[in-house]
Amino acid sequence: MPSPAPVTGPVVGVIGGGQLARMMGPAATELGIELRVLAEAPDSCAVPAAASHEVGDYKDLATLLSFADGVDVITFDHEHVPNEHLEALLTAGVAVEPRPTALVHAQDKIVMRRAVEKLGLPNPRWAAVKSVEDLVAFAEGRWPVVLKTPRGGYDGKGVLVVPSESEARNGTAAAWFAESGFEHLLAEEAVPFTRELSALVARTPTGEVRSWPVVESIQVDGVCDEVLAPAPGLDPEVEQAAESAARTLATELGVTGVVAVELFDVPGRGFLVNELAMRPHNSGHWSMDGAVTGQFEQHLRAVLDLPLGDTGLLGTATVMKNVLGGENTDLFSGFTRVMSSVPEAKVHLYGKGVRPGRKVGHVNVTAPAGAPAPETNTGQSGQDSADQRMSALRDRAREAAALLRDGA
Ligand code: ADP
Repeated sequence: MPSPAPVTGPVVGVIGGGQLARMMGPAATELGIELRVLAEAPDSCAVPAAASHEVGDYKDLATLLSFADGVDVITFDHEHVPNEHLEALLTAGVAVEPRPTALVHAQDKIVMRRAVEKLGLPNPRWAAVKSVEDLVAFAEGRWPVVLKTPRGGYDGKGVLVVPSESEARNGTAAAWFAESGFEHLLAEEAVPFTRELSALVARTPTGEVRSWPVVESIQVDGVCDEVLAPAPGLDPEVEQAAESAARTLATELGVTGVVAVELFDVPGRGFLVNELAMRPHNSGHWSMDGAVTGQFEQHLRAVLDLPLGDTGLLGTATVMKNVLGGENTDLFSGFTRVMSSVPEAKVHLYGKGVRPGRKVGHVNVTAPAGAPAPETNTGQSGQDSADQRMSALRDRAREAAALLRDGA
């Protein structure tokens, strides 16, 4: 018997070995794609989920060039690879998606603000400021204002609410100007938003774009805690405009792969753009179980320039709840209870050591299409019953996440 033909599927290289790379693993396996991860350490959480991996420093060009050898395309788990290295990879003939010219808008919030303005999309009032004097001038006497480092922030680090002029002159803001090392910081009005939204789309290098429904993302202490998909009670005009803004940003900035456009919902002003993430995003984890094509599969399809998958909902709504570390360090000790008490919860653990407040997993709970809202009373409006359904889903997702966090 002739031996079978060798496996010839594409190889996707992911720089960074965190949970986003990890969750690309099952999607790659299903498609027969080889996922190769450049991990920070041998125990990075993506390592067990990747077909192959190397351990190395993503800030070292020689390491990146050697990792790229034999890979069809390079993509990312995070946005911190120096852009000059990505340019060098491109020059060496390596496919890098998203490309550095797009990625810079997710790396630098001042560059992003300029681009949003140029595209005529809704920004908060903002300015690039060099000094406390600039900040005070920007405030025009209306405090608080928000001060941000243009680069390197995550989960609310690098964001400072400055409550008053005296705080600006004497508090942390003054220290940031003196010590942050950035030529400019970003000043923004404190936006009076009622909630945060996220518009997630994927785009291929040849220009196909698909969007998921706009979701609500609930932040606690600057960290995403819960996502409601689709965003409850969102004005259809705002939903359409937000989706269209995300498509415009993806297309005009030349983004490839998944991009999350974080938005503020501001009654009377529609929405304002907060920031961009050019990779699968926490606000898109719901899609793993709540949409025909989840964001991790879509990202792989997009960076390989394959046709994108259907982004339709599998149920009527999905709630994603993050599992943040608590006192219990053994997440598996909660398995029996969570699996018996909330069998509809889809549990995703990241294989990361528990530390209080650390994102160590998430759960998704989806309301099946056609299921009645719980305890529907006659005379309720459609919105009431949708709210009730969402509230019941949230309870279930919270219960599952708490059982995992607290263990047996
Ligand atoms: P990070 O890069 O750390 O995610 P963000 O720019 O998204 O930083 O800000 C973190 C959080 O701070 C946001 O989710 C929002 O709750 C709050 N925030 C950021 N910018 C503003 C603003 N201009 N006005 C009011 N709140 C803001």
